Amino acid sequence: MVATTSGTGRAAPGSGAVVVVGSISVDLTVTASPLPRPGETVVGTRFSTVLGGKGANQAVAAARAGASTTMVGAVGRDTFATLALDGLRHDHVDVAWVEAVDGATGVAHIRVDTHTGENDIVIVPEANAAVTPTHVEQALTAAAPTAPVVLLQLETTTEVALATARACADLGLRLVLDPAPASPLPEEIWRGVWLACPNETEAEVLTGTRVTDVRSAERAARWFLERGVRQVVVTRGGRGTVVVGPSGTTDIPAFGVSPVDTTAAGDAFAGALGAAVAAGLAWPVALRRAAAAGALATTKHGASPSIPTAAEVDTYLTGR
Ligand code: ADP
Repeated sequence: MVATTSGTGRAAPGSGAVVVVGSISVDLTVTASPLPRPGETVVGTRFSTVLGGKGANQAVAAARAGASTTMVGAVGRDTFATLALDGLRHDHVDVAWVEAVDGATGVAHIRVDTHTGENDIVIVPEANAAVTPTHVEQALTAAAPTAPVVLLQLETTTEVALATARACADLGLRLVLDPAPASPLPEEIWRGVWLACPNETEAEVLTGTRVTDVRSAERAARWFLERGVRQVVVTRGGRGTVVVGPSGTTDIPAFGVSPVDTTAAGDAFAGALGAAVAAGLAWPVALRRAAAAGALATTKHGASPSIPTAAEVDTYLTGR
């Protein structure tokens, strides 16, 4: 489908459709300073419960970027399930393919030191570990006629990742893999991946090449291309993005922003990129919108609350 675009490459809402296969969690965040040492108890200053998980964050990002978005995953049968599903619905994400399974919804327990900004996180997958390859195959088969782009991360099981890659290859869908958190994967997965968007650390873990500059990012990207991936986008935070594909290597500088919290920048980037590709935007326009979404996400606190809408990206890009 061809999108309606303005000078900033604005995608008309609903002009593309994406499916996100991945994790759904609730982020439980406490702030204190200093954080307690083992065995110690301290009184904190703030507590919040918000929708999180890389899958859900990317679904929110794609939906806010204007894509008609379907989430495929699982929640438990607990009060956090309601919070998570309400959060997705609030952003008009279709949750018909989110299964309710026995047990708890995934959680991330986050502690932030208000003084230093340092944090530590314990993720408990819970329902995210119960997503099955069969469920994903059924969802993708149902969505394939209308949704050309699938987003995947690695907070569900390797079996789910492999099933997603196989289904995308069979159904002719474009799979965008954000390989986070990075872990070794079966070689077969890469043949089903259309675009991989690792950050520098993930690129190093997967390829063995330490990414410190454009040349090393390009070397790492070649590892993915040799395995059948069509496009590689190595995200480098405030140092920008290195894009390697059939038309060569492009180094795209980051937008100049004043970051306050870089959480979910990569999710904002991947979701916006998937939405732009699904909307049929030209590749440089899609990358520009994704970079703007990633940059804007660093200017607000939190994960999903920091992810910008298409209108916010438009406003930011207008006149730049
Ligand atoms: P991740 O969150 O997965 O580590 P990155 O930090 O690389 O991902 O961020 C993804 C993209 O978001 C970057 O390629 C860049 O376009 C944008 N971005 C991230 N951090 C900044 C920043 N400090 N300034 C400007 N843009 C940023």
